Amino acid sequence: VSGGFQAPKGTFDVLPAEAARRARIEQAARAIFERAGYGRIETPAFEDTELFERGVGQSTDIVNKEMFSFEDQGGRSITLRPEGTAPICRAYVEHGMHKLPQPVKLWCSGPFFRHERPQAGRYRQFTQIDAEAIGTDDPLADAELIGLLDELLRELRVPGVELRLSSLGSLDARSRYLDQLKAHLHEHEAELAKEVRERIDINPLRAFDSNHDGTRSVMADAPKLLDQLDDEDASHFEQVRSLLDAAGIAYSLDPTLVRGLDYYTRTIFSFVCDRLGAQSEIGGGGRYDGLVEQLGGPPTPAIGWAAGIERILISLDEEPEAPQRDVFVATADSGQRGRAMAIVSELRRGGLSAEADLAGRSLKGQIRQADRVGARRTLILEKDGSAQLRDMHSGEQRPIDPDRAVEELGGG
Ligand code: AMP
Repeated sequence: VSGGFQAPKGTFDVLPAEAARRARIEQAARAIFERAGYGRIETPAFEDTELFERGVGQSTDIVNKEMFSFEDQGGRSITLRPEGTAPICRAYVEHGMHKLPQPVKLWCSGPFFRHERPQAGRYRQFTQIDAEAIGTDDPLADAELIGLLDELLRELRVPGVELRLSSLGSLDARSRYLDQLKAHLHEHEAELAKEVRERIDINPLRAFDSNHDGTRSVMADAPKLLDQLDDEDASHFEQVRSLLDAAGIAYSLDPTLVRGLDYYTRTIFSFVCDRLGAQSEIGGGGRYDGLVEQLGGPPTPAIGWAAGIERILISLDEEPEAPQRDVFVATADSGQRGRAMAIVSELRRGGLSAEADLAGRSLKGQIRQADRVGARRTLILEKDGSAQLRDMHSGEQRPIDPDRAVEELGGG
C-alpha cells in the first residue's frame, strides 16, 4: 500500500467503473422524483449534535454509540449526519416551509455516517437516497412514498425484493403498548439475551430484532402493537393497505417490524432483498407524525424513506460496464500529434466522445489503446496529413477527410 495509507475503516473509494454504476442509480431516482414532483434538497453533512439526540432519539443505537461527534473550534458539539430525516425536518422548520402548500415533497442523496462494525453492506460512510412528504397524514401519501421506492427498485431490476409492512400506531397508543411490552419482558427476564435484558426499559421494541433463541420464543408470545391499534390508526392502516393492493404492490404484514429510529408512528415499511445476507434491508421508512413538532415546528404529520445505494449495488451484482468511445484519433507519425489533439477537441465539441494518445505510444500501441477504451472507430492521421478511418469491429479501413471528421463521424 503506497505510503502505508488506506481508506479509513468502514469506508471505501469509488473508482470510475463503480462510479458509473452509482450514477445510473442516482439518475433513475432523480427521474422518478422529478416525474412525481419531489424537489431536491441538500442539507449539510454535519449538524448540531442535539438535533439527532432530540430527533433520532436518546434510546437508539444510532445516538448511543454510532455517531461521529466532535467539538468544533468554537466549542460546539457537531455530528456527521447519521440519517437524513431529522436534518430535512430541521430545514423545513427553519425555512418556514409549513407556509407552503402541503405536503412539501423533497428528496436528497448523499453521504451518511455511522460508527458501526463494518461488514458486507454495512459501512461507516454510506450513501442514501431519501424521500420525504412533509405536512400530510393522508394514507395516499403513504402509498405514494412506498410506491416510489417500489418503482425505483423495479426500474433498477433489483432481484429478490420483498416489502414488509406494519403500523406502530400513534405516539400515545405506542407508549401504552410499550408499557405492556416492558411488563411482558420483565416477566420473562431470565429467558432473555443479556443485551435485551439490559435494555428492557430503554428500547423494548428492539427485542423483536434479536436472534437469540430464548428471546425469540419470549417474543413469539409478546403482545403485538398491530393487534391493538386504536380505531383511527387501524383505519389509517387499513386504507394504506387497500391503496397498496389497488396499486398492485405486494407486501407481507410483519407485526414484529421495528426500525432503529425513535420517531416513527403509524405506517412503517421495509424493503428487504434475499441477495443481501445479514444486512438484508435495502431501504425502508415510515411515518413520523411527531418529529417536526419535536424539533420546534408546528404539529406536522410526515412520511419518508431512505434506501442505501451500496446495498442496491450489492444486490445487482453486475459486471462493470465496458468503456465506450465514439472515436480514437491515432497518429502514424508523431509530427501529427498536435493536429490529432485539435481534431479530438473538435469532435468533442460536436458531441462525440473522443480520445487521443497521451503517452507517446507507437501506432500499434495506439490501436491497442483504442481497443482498450472501447473506441468504435479510429481515425489514423498519416504523415502526409491524409487520414484513414478504421472500424474497430470489422477492422475495415477507408480514407477520410480529417477536416470533415465531425460531419463524417456523425457529430452535430
Ligand atoms: P435507516 O436510515 O437506518 O432506516 O436505513 C435506511 C437504509 O440505509 C438501509 O435500508 C440501508 O440500505 C442503508 N444503510 C443504513 N445504514 C447503513 C450502513 N451502515 N451501511 C450501508 N448502508 C446503510
